[in-house]
Amino acid sequence: QETVAIETLTDGFHLLIDALKLNGINTIYNVPGIPITDLGRYAQGEGIRVLSFRHEQHAGYAAGAAGFLTKKPGVCMTVSAPGFLNGLTALANATTNCWPMILISGSSEREVVDLMQGDYEEMDQLAIAKPLCKAAYRILHAEDIGIGVARAIRAAVTGRPGGVYLDIPGSLLGQAMDAIEGRKSLVKVIDPAPAQLPAPDAVARAIDVLKGAKKPLIILGKGAAYAQADDVVRELVEKSGIPYLPMSMAKGLLPDNHPQSSSAARSLVLKDSDVVVMVGARLNWLLSHGKGKQWGEPYSKKFVQIDIEPKEMDSNVEIAAPLVGDIQSCAQALIDAMGPDWKKPPTGWTDAVRSKVEGNIEKMASRLQGNATPMNYHSALGVVKKVFEDRPDTILVNEGANTLDFARSIVDMSKPRKRLDVGTWGVMGIGMGSAIAAAVETDCPVVAVEGDSAFGFCGMEIETICRYNLPICVVIFNNNGIYRGDDQNRSGSADPATTAFVKDSRYEKMMEAFGGVGVYATSPDDLKRAIFEAIDSRKPTLINAIIDEAAGKESGNIGSLNPQSVVAQA
Ligand code: ADP
Ligand code: MG
Repeated sequence: QETVAIETLTDGFHLLIDALKLNGINTIYNVPGIPITDLGRYAQGEGIRVLSFRHEQHAGYAAGAAGFLTKKPGVCMTVSAPGFLNGLTALANATTNCWPMILISGSSEREVVDLMQGDYEEMDQLAIAKPLCKAAYRILHAEDIGIGVARAIRAAVTGRPGGVYLDIPGSLLGQAMDAIEGRKSLVKVIDPAPAQLPAPDAVARAIDVLKGAKKPLIILGKGAAYAQADDVVRELVEKSGIPYLPMSMAKGLLPDNHPQSSSAARSLVLKDSDVVVMVGARLNWLLSHGKGKQWGEPYSKKFVQIDIEPKEMDSNVEIAAPLVGDIQSCAQALIDAMGPDWKKPPTGWTDAVRSKVEGNIEKMASRLQGNATPMNYHSALGVVKKVFEDRPDTILVNEGANTLDFARSIVDMSKPRKRLDVGTWGVMGIGMGSAIAAAVETDCPVVAVEGDSAFGFCGMEIETICRYNLPICVVIFNNNGIYRGDDQNRSGSADPATTAFVKDSRYEKMMEAFGGVGVYATSPDDLKRAIFEAIDSRKPTLINAIIDEAAGKESGNIGSLNPQSVVAQA
């Protein structure tokens, strides 16, 4: 039906759209349905790019990835109850990753929900969202939309970024108000993420600790990538002369072939370093909590930590020199305090790291050769590595178990924020959402290297990729199963093993069903040709890369996290 344009009136739909636009939000990751179908339609009509997904979780993962890439909150929009819960997984994931995101969900009649009288999709969404995100708000009156959106944006990006839930009861959207009053009620968020300078004595303390170091190390995390302080981070590393280790999503902040990169000597630098400077990285499970054998205990380390979140300090071990502030300001303060006569670390240390790096890279290089069929992780990733050397503007999305672990160490990145992966939770299913956000937000070509299991969590979104004609090449490392494809059912019944999939699944035909390009690749040469063609043509492409089903190991590098039974038969 036609909506009559009444010049003097506005309503909840339009106030919400105007509030988002006023604050520079120009993309919404959406799944339509009651009560937000028209909201998406009108937003598209008003010039916002609205991408409709097939499932809310992936729209949400896209919004989170968009937040990481742009430093602006990525917005996901869903229906009530089940749609909201699907989106909430992604909102919690964004919060865990410290990425700014806003989940806007329609909700049912407040009066009915609060009396639990059984509404359509009845759920007290605000209460459920609250413990799982950084902030949660509900807007009940049209005149509060401006403030509500402003609060959501500021909460998402200020301090440690995170996810914000915004509850939009369906009835709010239809509320009308005077158009001039409406315009006046909108709020533009000024300086949403203000610089936060570290205290001078904290800087002096950090410099003291660094001066006492004989074997220093810098660890760059995805917070450093997020901060977009690329030049100053690079200056800190180069001026200090300290070897650095990028966490997976900080790869490329400095090019992985940088002479100070110690990625290929990870075990050595974690174990032998004496002072470690954490830059936007947390001492969580991904770094063995900063203690134990991997860190060379019983020898204790001193940590300097740059983080915008004061509570992060001492989360796992004592931090000798906490630097609370934004990365740009903290790194600049350190550079200034280092002064003109800064002494680089002893060459005994930097040479030892360098020679370990070179030895390991050489050892690895020989394993990446060959054109045998079926492929293994090394031969297939040798090709992907080559592609990223030749096409450094391409974004790599990466998930899976072995597919993730091997790709992280084999494929070098040479530019910042070109790698999106499973993040702090190590969650599977982020692939298609991240790939879509990467293509939409940057217009760069995207290659998503996916384990066949990881792909299964989000595979239907290849229709979304084709619908919006996005320059995404999905490469499925197909080894017929979770971890490996050769496991056996121990009962002897006809069912396949719990971790095995249909053998030789033809995933590429799914892509063809939606008008994309499908490729069945059995050799590294096939794979290489197909990826280059996909990047250069920018056509939605899915490459089914056949990997030896006996390659790889249980849970990849983190098999030790599986509990062990003492009584089960092998
Ligand atoms: P990784 O997994 O790569 O180690 P984490 O996500 O664990 O990275 O850590 C990122 C850290 O960066 C978080 O503790 C977060 O508070 C911090 N952070 C995010 N943005 C900024 C910023 N602009 N300035 C300083 N710290 C930041
Ligand atoms: Mg697999």
